[in-house]
Amino acid sequence: MKPTNHYFSGLGTTIFTVMSALARRHGAINLAQGFPDDNGPDEVRAVAARALQEGPNQYPPGRGIPELCEAVAAHDQRFYGFDFSPDNVLVTAGATEALAASMMALVNPGDEAVIFEPAYDSYRPILEGMGVTVRAVQLAPPAWSFTEQDLTKAFSPRTKLVVLNSPMNPIGKVFSRDELELIASFVERHDCFAVCDEVYEHIVFDGRAHIPLMTLPAMAERTVRIGSAGKTFSLTGWKVGYISGPAALVEAINKVHQFLVFTVPPNLQKGVAHGLRFDDSYFHSLAHDMQAKRDRLSANLTKAGFRVLPSEGTYFLTADYSALAPGEPSDAFCMRITRDAGVAAIPLAPFYGTPPEDPLVRFCFCKDNAVLDDGAKRLERYFSGVSAPSAPAPSREAHNNA
Ligand code: PMP
Ligand code: GLN
Repeated sequence: MKPTNHYFSGLGTTIFTVMSALARRHGAINLAQGFPDDNGPDEVRAVAARALQEGPNQYPPGRGIPELCEAVAAHDQRFYGFDFSPDNVLVTAGATEALAASMMALVNPGDEAVIFEPAYDSYRPILEGMGVTVRAVQLAPPAWSFTEQDLTKAFSPRTKLVVLNSPMNPIGKVFSRDELELIASFVERHDCFAVCDEVYEHIVFDGRAHIPLMTLPAMAERTVRIGSAGKTFSLTGWKVGYISGPAALVEAINKVHQFLVFTVPPNLQKGVAHGLRFDDSYFHSLAHDMQAKRDRLSANLTKAGFRVLPSEGTYFLTADYSALAPGEPSDAFCMRITRDAGVAAIPLAPFYGTPPEDPLVRFCFCKDNAVLDDGAKRLERYFSGVSAPSAPAPSREAHNNA
């Protein structure tokens, strides 16, 4: 038999799968993978459950059910002022499919794509698997800044695409208007497309605004935005995402989507359509509640001896562990605390093509307060020399088998 030697077969298992499996094996609290303990809004689940019982349960339109396409267009009008219709919207199997389909539609083998690192783990494999050269701008901690010179080095006449994730996983960075203007000037000058991963658009803290790149001058015609019901409604298992942007680009992406997944479950789409029409107060409380969790975990980790870096949005914060484990690589540190302290975190190294040696790990705070407190207490006890309890963690992990 011929060997399975395709690019993807040479890749390892995603760090989220690895750390969640390790957490389960050791009965550790999972502050690694980003999934809320919360079960999502009752009303959204009720609408989806009713639609499942009453039907229809056959293939819905490939672009998405009309209610959801209209709801995404209305959401984008309400929050960002875009004048969109359902022709500007495509419903996808989560943001993951939206990203892959966009990349496949907008770049060709031999093109170059610019990403910002530490980058969400799916960008590089999809691009490289397609034969695209990835040029990474490495953001500099603790402010995760970059310069015009960094962009000059990354962009070339072959650049066809920029992938921009704001608010940014894993570091919780929210790109400022000045930063976006600088990026936009390169996107325009190099005549490329921008795929904007904005799944955490409603999880932004301290009164900051999430600014879609698409709102900047000259960006609207070359940018698509990606959202996810997973994040906006704390329903990560549903895998309902949506793309919005210029009709021609969305239709080009639909050409890929029709052969990748064709359609997305209709009842889940109904639930999400209902949620997207919630009052502003729902979206404000999502950010407000998550900000309180960020503050709670930050304070507790600081007490345990970590130096917590600012988190401006997302489910995540990063922490410097150098005072606790000088010189230890971040993957070894995460394995050790999962096994010995009973708390799982994610190393930053897998989010890079060529990882720097920064002593940084990512903790997830979209968990019950009791879980956050217990996790930090375990770390504090472990690092002060007392061993962690071996009792299983209360985190709701039973169905998390990613
Ligand atoms: N992009 C980022 C930055 C994410 O954090 C996630 C969450 N897993 C995704 C994309 C994928 O989202 P989904 O679960 O909707 O596929
Ligand atoms: N986005 C989630 C995280 O960053 C995980 C998604 C996944 O497991 N693929 O933790």
